[in-house]
Amino acid sequence: MLAFSVPVIAFFFSVLFFGIWTRWKMLRYLLWLASAFLLFGVAFLSQILLIPRNLGINSVVSTVFYTSATLVFAEGVLRRLELRSNRLFNFAVALFIVAGSAYFYYGVLWLDGRVYVLNFGLAFLLLVTALRMRKEAHRFLDRSLFWALLLFALQFFPRTVFSVEHLEDTQDIAIIRRMMEFRFSVWLNLSLLVFMVLIGLLLLTAIGADIIAALHQKATTDSLTGLLNRRGFEELAERQTAKAKDQVQSLILFDIDDFKSINDLYGHHGGDAVLSQIGSLLREFVHEADAASVARFGGEEFAVLLSGLNQSQLYRAAEGLREEIASTEFGEGNLNERTVTASFGVVEINAGESLEQALRRADDLLYAAKRAGKNRIVADWI
Ligand code: GH3
Ligand code: MG
Ligand code: MG
Repeated sequence: MLAFSVPVIAFFFSVLFFGIWTRWKMLRYLLWLASAFLLFGVAFLSQILLIPRNLGINSVVSTVFYTSATLVFAEGVLRRLELRSNRLFNFAVALFIVAGSAYFYYGVLWLDGRVYVLNFGLAFLLLVTALRMRKEAHRFLDRSLFWALLLFALQFFPRTVFSVEHLEDTQDIAIIRRMMEFRFSVWLNLSLLVFMVLIGLLLLTAIGADIIAALHQKATTDSLTGLLNRRGFEELAERQTAKAKDQVQSLILFDIDDFKSINDLYGHHGGDAVLSQIGSLLREFVHEADAASVARFGGEEFAVLLSGLNQSQLYRAAEGLREEIASTEFGEGNLNERTVTASFGVVEINAGESLEQALRRADDLLYAAKRAGKNRIVADWI
């Protein structure tokens, strides 16, 4: 019963992770995790059912499956955190495990040797994986996963040492079957079961959190430019102003001039190309100016929130953007002959003023810039 529940639960998690992947294909790591649980279930079944029946071949086959399951699992856990495993190192350890356990059957017949090589080898791989994910495991869930993995890896050592004492070195399948029902396999199966359920559930929770984060990102991002949308901008601005309370916060709002005629002359596609190029230009600007956030407010209007700039620095930042847009060659074909300009409204956010109010003031100044002839900046202190 105990022995069979291990592969059953492994297959359950495998199917579950695969099922979630079919709906959320951007979470590519799910395929690695699903494969890992599948391989593990197969390895376990091959061992307890003695398939293939030849003991030597069985030992090699289940060792290969256990080792691949561990490597694939490591890859999935690390990819989830945008980390990569060290392929060469993994390959070397895997080779050592498989060659080692084959040697202790075909070279020197020594069951304990096989058990040590396999268990210590897998534990070593898991340990390295846990330590590798530690750097990137900041959130509570990721830390829990790290600790579960670390404990799982560490328990291999005492469990293997104690259980080997109860192993009888034999070629007799009847005795081997009987041994499986005793201590060695009870402890083994129980620990595998507990850790598999624990790690599987932690992963499931982590996947849920990843899905929520992906949905949130989608809801706060403008898909054309990859910048924040208005909602994302408001959220980030709120956090930013709370974080830098003693710093002055400023807003640059701008709107592309005569954008309608760009659409009319070069098609909607041409207009979109201009918008997405302005998106890249703004991302670069954020990077260089250390600005808090940039967003596209729908249409052809963009907003930048900056912290800690005095009035002349702020004006220079806006002027830099205005000049850069006016001097950029947009798109391909005849679009690049067209000079694209934008009009700017710049404000400092007053103490006690809401983002909403500041945006409205910036918008008024932006329209003042339009009325004054476009391609210019109007700031609240000038
Ligand atoms: P002004 O100089 O006064 O800003 O004139 P304008 O033509 O830029 O302003 P207006 O608001 O009249 O026109 C904006 C146009 O932007 C109208 C709309 O069709 C177009 N637009 C809005 N969103 C998109 C988009 O995502 N892609 C493209 N290509 N065009 C868009
Ligand atoms: Mg416009
Ligand atoms: Mg507009």
